[in-house]
Amino acid sequence: MTDLESQVPTDFIRNIIAQNTQTKKHDGKVVTRFPPEPNGYLHIGHAKSICLNFGIALENEGGICYLRFDDTNPAKETAEYMESIIADVKWLGFDWGDRLRHASDYFDQLYEYAVELIKMEKAYVCSLSADEIREYRGTLQEPGKESPYRNRSVQENLDLFEKMKAGAFEEGEHVLRAKIDMASGNINMRDPVIYRIRKVPHHRTGDRWCIYPMYDFTHCLSDSIEGITHSLCTMEYEDHRPLYDWVLDELDVGCHPQQIEFARLNLSYTVMSKRKLLRLVQEGHVSGWDDPRMPTLAGMRRRGYTPASIRTFCDRIGVGKKESTVDLALLEYTVREDLNETCPRVMGVLRPLRVVIENYPEDTIEELDCPYHPENKEMGSRKVPFSKTLYIEEDDFMEDPPKKFFRLAPGREVRLRYAYYIKCVEVVKDEKTGEIIEVRCTYDPETKGGWAPDGRKVKATLHWVSEKHAMKAEVRLYDRLFEKANPDIEKAESDLAKLLNPNSLEILKACYLEPSLKDSKPESRYQFERLGYFCADACDSSEEKLVFNRTVTLRDTWAKISNKKNT
Ligand code: ATP
Ligand code: MG
Repeated sequence: MTDLESQVPTDFIRNIIAQNTQTKKHDGKVVTRFPPEPNGYLHIGHAKSICLNFGIALENEGGICYLRFDDTNPAKETAEYMESIIADVKWLGFDWGDRLRHASDYFDQLYEYAVELIKMEKAYVCSLSADEIREYRGTLQEPGKESPYRNRSVQENLDLFEKMKAGAFEEGEHVLRAKIDMASGNINMRDPVIYRIRKVPHHRTGDRWCIYPMYDFTHCLSDSIEGITHSLCTMEYEDHRPLYDWVLDELDVGCHPQQIEFARLNLSYTVMSKRKLLRLVQEGHVSGWDDPRMPTLAGMRRRGYTPASIRTFCDRIGVGKKESTVDLALLEYTVREDLNETCPRVMGVLRPLRVVIENYPEDTIEELDCPYHPENKEMGSRKVPFSKTLYIEEDDFMEDPPKKFFRLAPGREVRLRYAYYIKCVEVVKDEKTGEIIEVRCTYDPETKGGWAPDGRKVKATLHWVSEKHAMKAEVRLYDRLFEKANPDIEKAESDLAKLLNPNSLEILKACYLEPSLKDSKPESRYQFERLGYFCADACDSSEEKLVFNRTVTLRDTWAKISNKKNT
């Protein structure tokens, strides 16, 4: 992880931490955590939080970071989600060592803390219904009303809480509430619920518990138990900070972490909350959480994004307090930049047009030496077979080209990459449909390697594959999942489909790739010359059937297309 350490970002959180370590606050220690709830797959927004928390631990001497599952809502959480999160954090390049924790590891301790609050008369069992609790809570303008159960005796509260734990009551019959201030200007402080009955088995604790602690009670105490120094969370928890501090101040805990809020990441042309992503999955708009169009890490991985490019992106967007939407084009730019350096170049034809070279010998096959990377000689080269019949890209040929079309056309000469100059001499069409079946060309044997000894120039270089040797493959072209930069998914509560980009996936079933791609391992990445970056699909690609995903195009074509649409 030296690339991470070499260019340390700065931001207001890192500044606070630097000051703290200087003044020996928190004993000069830096302990952070990434606390996902296992109720969905991680998305690029989580990557921002992961890079921040793990990054800060790496940058500070002796710094450590926990991976802690905030698993207090068994109705929505699963082991599958947990495993996916573990895999994704690892894939992103971070290591929590032996510091994998679960809030559920602390259920016994949390229960004891709740009992302590009851004994201190700082918590009580409330028997109002959920609706009544909401009603009593008041509004931003009006203070709340005290629950009639607020002054139950310590003994009664202890008995009831014990019975809640033992399963004597149904869901919703009672809750445990902190006794704070129903007139507080901060609604979170109006006797918040800290435990509720949930008769749902937990994926880790089974049916040992039927009461579960709420987020606000669990989070601060989990932080404290782990000795977290800086508890970094997103802005929506700013109003919860007084409660975070209240719980830790009331209870006799040794460690009181410092909560600092930062703005969440929003990205254009997509949605970022797990709830919304779950809808996309459940309604079948995508093939799953790892659909390459999803903003999930699993989706981005399958699409071919590199962990390094996502980390660089997170550094680039920075950390602040002001919410904003980052242009997806910046992420794509960062991915492209990384792939440009690291991907071998190969040739593949997505929409094939047959080319027959009339003067090339019938049975000759030449193995042409083609470098993997124009600037990076260390990547070496491979042999690509050349023969009489080839495929080129359909749109690299026009029978009746407009002025600005410089590629192959009748009578025109172009270069085949690393091979020869060819000249189109005839167009063969289907008699009935008039469709072009093949293009017939001649080649100049003097131009081997793609250069003419007489110095004559051509205006285009085309990629190609030899028909006889090509590997047939399926290629999936991906584009923005949503039509608009800011999809209003709430408004479209019933009809999500209307917001989606109808062209977000195009499947090409009969593409031809150069034979060196035969043994491509799943997830291996290439630049297909002139077309973009592609990645062998981790789930569907096999030796029998190659499937490639387009990770990103070579240039940002979207801006052009959408500008045209808008004018
Ligand atoms: P979502 O709204 O997507 O479901 P969440 O906040 O409920 O997200 P958690 O699993 O609770 O998801 O998040 C784990 C950590 O990641 C939290 O600290 C949270 O603040 C942070 N996080 C979640 N979404 C973003 C985001 N878009 N940008 C930055 N950090 C985020
Ligand atoms: Mg959450």
